[in-house]
Amino acid sequence: MAEAGTLHDAFIDELRDTYDAERQLTKALAKLAKAASSPPLREAFESHLTETQGQIERLEQVFVSLDEKVRGKHCDGIAGIIEEGKSIMEEDFDDDTMDACLIAAGQRAEHYEMAAYGTLVAWARAMGHSEAADLLQETLEEEKAADEKLSSLAEGGINQNAAEATHSDEDEAAVAVGGGARKKGPTNGKSGARRR
Ligand code: ZN
Ligand code: FE
Ligand code: FE
Repeated sequence: MAEAGTLHDAFIDELRDTYDAERQLTKALAKLAKAASSPPLREAFESHLTETQGQIERLEQVFVSLDEKVRGKHCDGIAGIIEEGKSIMEEDFDDDTMDACLIAAGQRAEHYEMAAYGTLVAWARAMGHSEAADLLQETLEEEKAADEKLSSLAEGGINQNAAEATHSDEDEAAVAVGGGARKKGPTNGKSGARRR
């Protein structure tokens, strides 16, 4: 039997996994951008795509800093998240609802990446790989900013537009009265009954 692996081995494995995840995401982000109706949402996906290309190069620098070959290893986790995003894009939703769903899909990917980079930074620091840690930290910050940007687009109008399309008929009065914080339940006499 081979010798037991070390944290350094696990670190290199995770780097390869993340390198592959980023490459899968470049294709996925292009599709998300194409599917988006809201111009600022499309721009957000496009600019994160450009950022992602930089993140791939940054990971290549990390491999070099560790004297490792640049290599990816299929990331099943992000593949699953991307697969779910594709199913959503095949649904027949109105434009605002689709945009809200694209944001939901994008944020799943960003959170997955934040988890991966959070671990990579912590492991690199623990092992004293400070050059790698600094590079990985830069990417972690970009992932967090991308996630926050998507939240601000969702909360800055896209969710509300989608919600208003859902409740466009007799609920309209309740929406107007409730403003941004629409109440559910007894106040509109529907006890949360939903329609499609
Ligand atoms: Zn190490
Ligand atoms: Fe990324
Ligand atoms: Fe990202």
